[in-house]
Amino acid sequence: MSRQKLTVISSIPPGLLQCDARDLYKILQGPTLIHLVGDKAEPLFISTLLHGNETTGFQSIQRVLRETKRLPRSVSIFIGNISAARYAERHLATQQDYNRVWLPGEGDEHAMAQDVIASMRRRNVFACIDIHNNSGRNPHYAIVATQEEAHIALAKSFGPRIVYATFPDSSCSAVFSKWCPAITVEAGIVGDASGVEHVSDFLRYCISSDDWMNFSPESFALYHTVAAIKIEESCSIGLLGEDADIELLPDVDRFNFNWLDPGTQLGKVRNGRSSCLRVEGVDDTMVISDYLGTERGVLQTVKPIMPAMLTTDCEIIKMDCLCYLMERLL
Ligand SMILES: [Zn+2]
Repeated sequence: MSRQKLTVISSIPPGLLQCDARDLYKILQGPTLIHLVGDKAEPLFISTLLHGNETTGFQSIQRVLRETKRLPRSVSIFIGNISAARYAERHLATQQDYNRVWLPGEGDEHAMAQDVIASMRRRNVFACIDIHNNSGRNPHYAIVATQEEAHIALAKSFGPRIVYATFPDSSCSAVFSKWCPAITVEAGIVGDASGVEHVSDFLRYCISSDDWMNFSPESFALYHTVAAIKIEESCSIGLLGEDADIELLPDVDRFNFNWLDPGTQLGKVRNGRSSCLRVEGVDDTMVISDYLGTERGVLQTVKPIMPAMLTTDCEIIKMDCLCYLMERLL
């Protein structure tokens, strides 16, 4: 049985900055909050491995702390789902998703999250950065749960693409946004060295400087999600040539965060299963035929759309959705 009670420590255990995320269970007993004292007392809260298979954040923290002798600001590092990281899983079958448990609720994971929140609020948390990876190729972007300037300013210093999303409202950064500037960063796919590079630079900057707080209203794009495209339970999904009802181009994720012209091909619909797709949107009047259609078996866009989080991981598509549709707010 994996232990899910929070451990709080105030120094870096031997081996932590060198080990693989899969081996963290040998060093830490379970989810661990590490408070490191720096010159400025109010801590930057950095969260990683809420999803055990998303290792870019942990690798970036290792890199930054290995090279940092003295911290200009206190840093509190939360290393989340260590038992899932052991198996490179998002979460174990017996666990709740660690990024959906930050509102008060039942179960060990909720209790753990409340302990983290209490510890950070006692220390007057300065800002919150929760680091994730995408399952498909996306440009790096940050997610905010409010459009207040301080949150946008923090997101903007990670990169020019910002997604405004109020759901899930039980995510770590959505809940922390009540008390401090808070963002989720999505640093591309796992194992991409450029993600570690980018996140390391960003963390180094936020630890050493408060310049990000000087908000300027230029050079960023704020998007929000207007709908998700889902696959019906009864339909099979695969890549081209895999004998599925819906077959996707093997590089369909290159379309993420691009405006697609009407008629852009995404894949094929086979066996006459054009009713496999549906749209779940902000209002009930949205219908899939306004967005995607089939022309002689080719699955293509009907009007200009910008998809995000398109993935070729068919397990994820079944569990979550094929993609989200985005609109630009600012
Ligand atoms: Zn994640």
